[in-house]
Amino acid sequence: MTATAPEDAPSRINVMVPWLGEEEVAAVAEVLRSGWVAQGPRVAAFEEAFARSQLAVHARAVSSCTTALHLALVVAGVGPGDEVVVPSFSFVATANAVVHAGGRPVFADVDPVTGNLTSESIERVLTPRTRAVVVVDQGGVPVDLDDIRARCDPRGIVVVEDAACGAGSTYRGHPVGAGAEVAAWSFHPRKVLTTGEGGMLTTEHDAWAERARLLREHAMNVSAAERHASVLAPAESYLEVGFNYRMTDLQAAVGLVQLARLPQVVRRRRDLAARYAAALADLPGLRPVADPSYGESNFQSYWVEVLPEHPVDRDGLLVALAEAGVSARRGIMAIHRQPAYASAQAGPLPVTERLTDHTLILPLFHQLTEGEQDRVVEVLVGTTR
Ligand SMILES: *Cc1c(COP(=O)(O)O)cnc(C)c1O
Repeated sequence: MTATAPEDAPSRINVMVPWLGEEEVAAVAEVLRSGWVAQGPRVAAFEEAFARSQLAVHARAVSSCTTALHLALVVAGVGPGDEVVVPSFSFVATANAVVHAGGRPVFADVDPVTGNLTSESIERVLTPRTRAVVVVDQGGVPVDLDDIRARCDPRGIVVVEDAACGAGSTYRGHPVGAGAEVAAWSFHPRKVLTTGEGGMLTTEHDAWAERARLLREHAMNVSAAERHASVLAPAESYLEVGFNYRMTDLQAAVGLVQLARLPQVVRRRRDLAARYAAALADLPGLRPVADPSYGESNFQSYWVEVLPEHPVDRDGLLVALAEAGVSARRGIMAIHRQPAYASAQAGPLPVTERLTDHTLILPLFHQLTEGEQDRVVEVLVGTTR
């Protein structure tokens, strides 16, 4: 609320607010006082804690999910001339990472209920040049990874999991990403766990983890932290053309606090999602996202499809919500419609186009009160009268 807002004006409800507190402030202050602010001991501790909580064999902290995806594709061997299947129904970075790795994104359609790729939708766009598939746990809804790997593994097609939205979601009883050859995570404030900016690569392959560790730090054979530890620093060499994709200890210190809170955050989000689902059950024109049969979502994005029978369309609902001070958002974008991908290969993507045109994302965050949530629901109910 701004200082100039009238006393009786209802406060604005944002679509997402990160949950940060004094513990994060203290953790950052401690890093500042230590004098070591770049990648160092906190990054190592965050990697270890993240791997433990997500049941990953190796975890490598990086600067974002976009850079994690790029590294994942590079270590998986994607290069010039390779086709990589991706959903168009995703944030643009999913496809950008493929282009950065030298590959060509090929868009596949998604399941109308989960919004995720399926083994059938992938099958339709496979060619002899398909080298990898990037599957997304879109909005936190787990993708059916086992089914997709059963189709891709025997053909030598690598399945990369874009788990940007997935921290705290589960697939067949374990954290998402745990069954992936390689997965990429985001800690942007729009996600459930944040470090400001930041990302993580997890993988089950020792060699991929080692190459990712080198590539994120200029492919130096002696890390900056190792050089700092000795007075007479050993001479380093640069093993290949690498990147600077490092996370800082400032970010990792925040990540450690946030990771410890993740179960609590996910519990609260799922309770609020259940409240939305119960309230919207009486409005047959609105279909909210839900858990698939094989897993549980962290509801990173609580999206609702506006069906044709609803008296007000998606854009009309966004206006009605905005007028009531509720900041909802258009649903997930369709990458193939962006100018950057005007010349990309895209077959028919009817489900993607329907979902992107007819979905909206409702406010859902840890501090959202039941009263605020009721205000959101009231606006939606009001559009049916
Ligand atoms: C947010 C997001 C990304 C990008 O994450 P950054 O950490 O901002 O690079 C990639 N893929 C998906 C599906 C996302 O939602």
